[in-house]
Amino acid sequence: MGFAAAAERTAGNDRIVSINPATGMPLGDVPDMGADAVRAAVARAREAQREWIRLTLAERCQKVRRFSVELMARADQVIDLICKEGGKTRSEALGTEVAVVADLANYFSKHAPRLLSPEPIPLHLLRHRKSYVHYVPRGVIGIIAPWNFPFSIPMGEVLMSAIAGNGVVLKPSEFTPLIALESKKLWEAAGLPADLFQVVTGRGATGAALIDSGIDYCVFTGSVATGRKVAAACGERLIPCTLELGGKAPAIVCADADLDRTAQAIAWGGFCNAGQVCCSVERVYAHTAVHDELVDKVVALTRSLRQGDPTGSEEVDVGAMTWERQVDTVDDLVKQAVGAGARVETGGRRVPGPGLFYEPTVLTNCRQDMDVMRREIFGPVVPIMRVSSEAEAIELANDSHLGLLAYVFTRDRDKGRRLAEQIEAGTVMINDVLNTFGCPETPWGGVKMSGIGRTHSVIGLRDLCELRHVNVDRVSLPKELWWYPYSRKKYRGMLAVMKKLLGSKRFTLT
Ligand code: NAD
Repeated sequence: MGFAAAAERTAGNDRIVSINPATGMPLGDVPDMGADAVRAAVARAREAQREWIRLTLAERCQKVRRFSVELMARADQVIDLICKEGGKTRSEALGTEVAVVADLANYFSKHAPRLLSPEPIPLHLLRHRKSYVHYVPRGVIGIIAPWNFPFSIPMGEVLMSAIAGNGVVLKPSEFTPLIALESKKLWEAAGLPADLFQVVTGRGATGAALIDSGIDYCVFTGSVATGRKVAAACGERLIPCTLELGGKAPAIVCADADLDRTAQAIAWGGFCNAGQVCCSVERVYAHTAVHDELVDKVVALTRSLRQGDPTGSEEVDVGAMTWERQVDTVDDLVKQAVGAGARVETGGRRVPGPGLFYEPTVLTNCRQDMDVMRREIFGPVVPIMRVSSEAEAIELANDSHLGLLAYVFTRDRDKGRRLAEQIEAGTVMINDVLNTFGCPETPWGGVKMSGIGRTHSVIGLRDLCELRHVNVDRVSLPKELWWYPYSRKKYRGMLAVMKKLLGSKRFTLT
């Protein structure tokens, strides 16, 4: 079966076919769930959550920790399915999916009791009282996920939500539903309460139904276009949400960069997961002093990459793309760029079927006004542009509606930090690429249209909770000074006290 035959991905009106993108062969099918089924799943998760919060946080952590034990015991089997359904290589499935989830489960199982413990807030003026905040589960978290990391993106959120005391309903991408169902099996095998984590398979309408089903929070990861719809739907219902949207990560290569390391980082950062990474190296600004040497190195590395069906072999560097329309987008962007004067140094073609492969591609002579430098490519294409200074590179890096990740390459770390702090991005890495998604302790998320809020880290964990504030008296007073009755005498007295406290040098900055 070729892709044309399988492309519709429908098996009857209410089923969706999952297809191996490296071969075009169907892998199975899942229900396209409607609003009633979604509401029922949310109700089951809510019911299970009432039991779940009877456990202490430490007990929940202990149970969630078992997920990583179960996962690592079955790692090879899970990796098989990730490769088959998503097209990524075995090393990528291990390093960017399975290991990321196991490490995240271990990290938050160990640290959540500290990260979610009540926090005192010292009061600087009203010292006869004290305040603290504490973190309470929100209820049911709805997670809407993309296809590019079908395991690590949603499962990180699922496990953090559960640790925080919530029930979870996951709507996976319609292109990768089987791995979500496998995740649910792992969950149950780890002894976690079956109903606490629900998977609702379907297309966009199923995601929309999830937002409309009474969930208490939505974590959405996907495109800017869908993110706008999700934000509007959440706004309508006043449900808080986190939006993890697209990226257009620039890599700035300074004249003093270690070019061997930089070239390898750019090749890996541009072609990992066939370039379908929200933080892929999507545009390179290379200082003119090193531009030509960098291009030679990146091109040589790119030509050495082995592309193919990753399912049965560890010896594949670049796997298949996941979604047929994405291959068209990539091809169009490359053709447009070439038409506008870009030069194909290597690659630049779709690989003949049956699978969804696009050759790892390096473009030079790129200009900032080309779509390939402005729109998210989401494929194995690295466009490189020559710049005459670091200041120019910063200006071009910031000339984007997106701001998820950015990269700076220099041997001078102080300069690297100075440049990094000028870049409008949620994360800037110096002399490295992509990796911080795998660090559960660091915040993940973007500025500008790359999203709202953060996942991972203490911030992401606390966002899955309601923050509640308690204010309590430290000493018993018969009444507060400003309570009734008001009088001129009391007013004058209060004014004198306020002048002394608020107008004195002790409370001013200068
Ligand atoms: P997408 O927006 O097409 O779909 C994402 C999910 O939203 C899918 O599950 C889809 O079925 C669902 N959906 C579609 N319409 C919906 C609606 N109206 N209401 C609710 N849900 C709806 O994105 P995609 O193509 O699956 O993923 C690729 C995009 O995701 C890229 O732009 C990429 O940069 C971005 N992404 C961002 C991050 C990040 O961390 N910032 C990570 C991975 C991917």
